[in-house]
Amino acid sequence: MTTARIIDFIKNRRPEGPCLVVDLDVVKNNYHAFRHAMPDSAIYYAVKANPAPEILSLLASQGSSFDCASVAEIQMALDAGATADRISFGNTIKKERDIARAHALGVNLFAVDAHEEVEKVARAAPGARVFCRVLTSGEGAEWPLSRKFGCVPQMAVDVLVYAHQLGLESYGVSFHVGSQMTQVDAWDSALADAKRVFSQLSKQGIHLQMVNMGGGFPTRYLKDIPSAEAYGKAIYAALRKHFGNHIPHTIIEPGRGMVGNAGVIKAEVVLISRKSDNDDARWVFLDIGKFGGLAETMDEAIRYPIRTVHDGGEMEPCVIAGPTCDSADVLYEKNMYPLPLSLTIGDEVLIEGTGAYTTTYSAVAFNGFEPLKAYVI
Ligand SMILES: *Cc1c(COP(=O)(O)O)cnc(C)c1O
Repeated sequence: MTTARIIDFIKNRRPEGPCLVVDLDVVKNNYHAFRHAMPDSAIYYAVKANPAPEILSLLASQGSSFDCASVAEIQMALDAGATADRISFGNTIKKERDIARAHALGVNLFAVDAHEEVEKVARAAPGARVFCRVLTSGEGAEWPLSRKFGCVPQMAVDVLVYAHQLGLESYGVSFHVGSQMTQVDAWDSALADAKRVFSQLSKQGIHLQMVNMGGGFPTRYLKDIPSAEAYGKAIYAALRKHFGNHIPHTIIEPGRGMVGNAGVIKAEVVLISRKSDNDDARWVFLDIGKFGGLAETMDEAIRYPIRTVHDGGEMEPCVIAGPTCDSADVLYEKNMYPLPLSLTIGDEVLIEGTGAYTTTYSAVAFNGFEPLKAYVI
């Protein structure tokens, strides 16, 4: 969403080079849309989506909690004003000394997905609360999360029994349906799995209390997406279906859905050329590419809206590439991207929906290009 504030900022400040501009008003609206759509769930913002201090402070002041993937992210959330009881260490892959550091900072909620990780938490954070992540299919997500995180539900039962035996508080189950999940019913089968884990543990006298329903809420790129309300309705219906009158505490961890549409990248056309005199495809090279923050164009997975001053004129499908000397630095080629015929070298373009997963994915100085600058307004 290119808001009037973002347009004004770019016009008046004339920032040099590619940069991300994030409008905090949009983040605030997103936060309250989640609050309103899922009033019975605690919101743990996934810090990795965009850890800008202004975003974290805003969310902390609105009452958000935080899902952190490292001690550094935990420290950022604390610096932004969150208390340790509002922080979850949600990465299932942690060094034991980082668990100890987090615990020393007051964090008491840890994700696990294996017996080996439970042992680390039991040693480094004795008595802490743990939740076990279960695998989901990831089907239907535009940025699926593979099998890297989570274990099958049957193993989650064993992992949580083991945690209990080691003196931890077996607190709940988590899952992530896959990022940019545009199907509102995707939570249903994961909640059915969660319920089965709850039931099996309660037979053994262990009463779980929490389901962490993860992130996955989408940002609008080129296609419309369902509203936060639609997600809330579908998710709460699935909770009632599977848990009946015993709905546990629930957590959601929006990352992309909290900040994606709040950011716009201003970029510039560096070169437009063809590979031969009769080449059908125009190559449009921007001053930002895969290494400058647009890593999610990998496999052309995320297709960002691109605005130019010539919009409305005749369009032609183009290959879009970044400025670095790496041949992988091509954004859209298999599925070419329509851009105006009158687009010329030196034109400014706006890449929308870039508030999430951009600044932190940008390389430090590959080819001497500076990391993506961000302005949070
Ligand atoms: C990345 C991540 C999220 C955020 O995912 P989005 O799809 O951006 O909402 C939430 N929870 C965990 C554990 C994550 O790793």
